[in-house]
Formats: sequence, structure tokens, C-alpha cells
Amino acid sequence: MADDSTPSDSAEQRARAHEPHDPGVAGRLNALRAAVLGANDGIVSTAGIVIGVAAAGAARGEIFTAGLAGLTAGAMSMAVGEYVSVSTQRDTEKALLDKERTELATMPVEEMAELAGLYEKKGLSRELAREVAEQLHAHDALAAHAEVELNIDPDELTNPWQAAFASMVAFTAGALIPLLAILLAPEGTRTVVTVAAVIIALLLTGWVSAKLGDAPRLRAMLRVAGGGALAMAVTYLIGLLFGTAVA
Ligand SMILES: [Zn+2]
Repeated sequence: MADDSTPSDSAEQRARAHEPHDPGVAGRLNALRAAVLGANDGIVSTAGIVIGVAAAGAARGEIFTAGLAGLTAGAMSMAVGEYVSVSTQRDTEKALLDKERTELATMPVEEMAELAGLYEKKGLSRELAREVAEQLHAHDALAAHAEVELNIDPDELTNPWQAAFASMVAFTAGALIPLLAILLAPEGTRTVVTVAAVIIALLLTGWVSAKLGDAPRLRAMLRVAGGGALAMAVTYLIGLLFGTAVA
């Protein structure tokens, strides 16, 4: 459920080229992208469940039960998956920062030389690299080492609870679209109405995610809507098949 499909390389590069230089904004953009992906998951998986169950001939109450169970299970699975993955990443980053902090305390001279060496490798002259390292050590040695050696901002570690809660909310918001559509639509039209609602919702999330990543809008919209349509077609056919076979 928590497969975070990454955008294509060119889109990613383009996104990076336009990436804001304020790390806080970049972090919020990433959170927004994760929310859109979570909502997509909720839309597609819940649509599959309710359409499949409806195709098997279930009544409204049974469709509601199945859809609600799918929504709950999916939201919990997203939250737990996100919590575990962000916690692990955070533990790793904390351990690396602790190690760096110890090294800075026990061998500051070697660490200063190491930092100067890294800046020299990046293209600065030996004297300038030395000067930069000295000034950074005087300012905030840990932050400087964390950035250059580990690519970590010590003040911007992701909060696993926040990440878990965000993906749970995003999944639930997405899941409510097919669930409400199939429950509110008139008896004879519920599948058609649900498919239409899902396609519209997916075109919208495709557009938003393409806009956030500054990627071609139409291609992203067709890709995400096409994937959703395929998922609904498969679960519809399986529901039809097993509904008649088992009942
Ligand atoms: Zn270091």
C-alpha cells in the first residue's frame, strides 16, 4: 500500500532545478507530495474494494462494511509503514550525528582538516578551504559536518509521528471519495458514478502532483487515471467472476 512511486528522472531533475533554496519549503513540498500519493492509494484501493464487492452482487450495507474495513486497514497500514520507515531513518541520522559530535569533541584538529579536505575536493583552493572550515567550526561545527559529510540538517529531522498521521489522513481523505460515491449513488448507477468520481479525483491528484514536481501535467494525469481505471477493471472482473461462482 505504501509504495511511493517515484517520478521519472527528468521530472525529478526538473523539480530539483526549481527547488526552493529554503530547506523548510522543500520539506513542506515533500510532505505535500507524500500526501498526494497517500490520497491516491486511498482512492484506488478503496475503489477496487467497493467496486469488486458491488460487482459480486453485495447490498449497500455489505459494500459499506467492506469499504470501511478497507479504509481502516489501509489507513493503519500506511501510518504504521510510514512510522517505521521514518523512525528507522531518524535513528540512523541520530546515530551518525552522535558519532560526528563525539569525533568533533575528541579530535577537533583532525575533523577541521577533514572538513577543509572535503571543501578542497569540491573545488576550493587549499587556503580558502582551510579558511571556510575554520569559520564554519567557529560558527556551528556539527551543522557544517552534518551537511557536507552526511547531507543531514540536524534541525530538520523528520518527525515519525507527524509523517504517520499525515499519511493516515491523506489515505482516509482519498478513500472517502469512492466510498461516498458508491453509497450515495442511486442503485442502478452506483458503479458508473463511482468510476467517474474516481477518475475525476485521480485526474486532479495527477495534476496536483505534476504541478508540485513541475512535470508535464497531462502525462501525469493520464498515467494516474489510467492506473486507477485498470485497478477498478481488474477488481470488477474478479468480483463478477467470484461473486457468481461462490454465490
Ligand atoms: Zn566530520
